[in-house]
Amino acid sequence: MLDTTSPFGGFAIDFGTDAALVGGPATAAVPAVDDQAPRSTQVLILGSGPAGLTAAIYAARADLAPIVLGGYQPGGQLTITSEVENYPGFPEGIQGPELMARFRAQAERFGARVVDVEVERVEFSNRPFRVWAAGVEYRAQAVIVATGASAIWLGLASEERLRGHGVSACATCDGFFFRDKAVAVVGGGDTALEEALYLTRFASKVHLLHRRAEFRASRIMQARVESHPGIEIHRGVTVDEVLGGESVTGVRLRSVATGETRDLPVQGFFVAIGHRPNTAPFEKWLAKDEKGYLVVEHETHARIEGVFIAGDVHDHRYRQAVTAAGDGCRAAIDAERWLDAREPAEAGTTATAG
Ligand code: NAP
Repeated sequence: MLDTTSPFGGFAIDFGTDAALVGGPATAAVPAVDDQAPRSTQVLILGSGPAGLTAAIYAARADLAPIVLGGYQPGGQLTITSEVENYPGFPEGIQGPELMARFRAQAERFGARVVDVEVERVEFSNRPFRVWAAGVEYRAQAVIVATGASAIWLGLASEERLRGHGVSACATCDGFFFRDKAVAVVGGGDTALEEALYLTRFASKVHLLHRRAEFRASRIMQARVESHPGIEIHRGVTVDEVLGGESVTGVRLRSVATGETRDLPVQGFFVAIGHRPNTAPFEKWLAKDEKGYLVVEHETHARIEGVFIAGDVHDHRYRQAVTAAGDGCRAAIDAERWLDAREPAEAGTTATAG
C-alpha cells in the first residue's frame, strides 16, 4: 500500500468528485451501478500529477475513455508548491494547485474520469489487469503507472506549518523567490549539495546543514560546496524547529556532539533528504533500479506488456513538471499504439466506467 500518511500534511484542493464513479447518484447518461462493481476501461492511469493527467488528456483524445486513480495526493507534488514559473505557457507564473486543476479540467473535458482514490493492490498476471482502490476493482487492458515520488520531510510540526511559506523541498521550483535572502538546506547527499549550489544563484547566503561530519554526496560535489564562498557548512547539527509565524525567520539547530541549541536566521528552508518513489503496490510486478525507482524496458514500456511507466516514479534525474508531462504524453501514445496493434478480439472490453 502507498503511504496513506501524506508527508505533505494538511494541504487540500477541492477538485470536486465524479459522483457516478465514487458511488454517488448516477446521472441519466450513466446507468446506476453497484458501488462495489468492477469498473472496466481500456486504459487505467494511476496517479494524477503532470504525468498521469497528461497521459489522461492524450488517452481521452484517442477515445480510450481512461480512468485516472488520483492517489493520496490528487494533483501530485505541484499542489504543495506555491508559484510555478518554469512551466512553459505561463509567462506570469501560475500557482501549483491551479496548474494541476487546469490539467485535470483539460483531461475531463475530453472524457477522462478522475477518481480521488489510492491504489491498494494490483494484479498484473494477465489481462485485463486488475487494480483495487477504496474497495472497488478496476479492470483495464493497459495501465499507465504515474504514481510519482514524494519528498521525504524531517517530520517537524513547524516544517509542515510553514510549507509554502519559506519551507520547500525543491530549490529549482522555489529558489528564485529567495533572491538576496539567507537560506538553509538540510541534507548531506547529492541532492542537498546540488540544491545548495543552485541556491547560491539567488540567495545572499546558503547554509548547508548536515547531521554528520562526512557527506554522503559525491566527492566532486563536496569539493564544489566546500570551495564556494556563498556556502557555509554546518556539520554535526540537526534541526529542532523551523522558526517563524507567517513565514520562515530561522531554524533552531542542535549540536549532535553537545546537545546545545542555537538559532540561525534564514528566510528559506530547503529540505533535501531524499525522495521516495511511490512504488509499493507494484513491488511484486515491476522491476526497480538500485535506488528503488521503476525501470522502463524501452520507451515507456514496463517489463509486463501492456503496462507503461511515466514521470517521477521512474525519473530521479529531472523531476520536473514539464518532463513528467512529456513522459505522460509518451506513455499514452505508447499505450494507444500497443492497444491498436493487438487483435480486436483480444482487445476485449470497452470503457464501462461508472
Ligand atoms: P541520499 O543520498 O539518500 O542522501 C540523503 C541525505 O539526507 C543524507 O546525507 C542523510 O544523512 C540525510 N538525511 C536523511 N534523513 C535525514 C534526517 N531525518 N535528518 C537529517 N538528515 C537526513 O538522497 P539524495 O541526496 O536525494 O540522493 C538520492 C540519490 O540520487 C543518490 O544516489 C544520489 O547520488 C543521486 N543524485 C544524483 C545527482 C547527480 O548525480 N547529479 C543529484 C541528486 C541526487 P546521512 O548521510 O547521515 O544518512
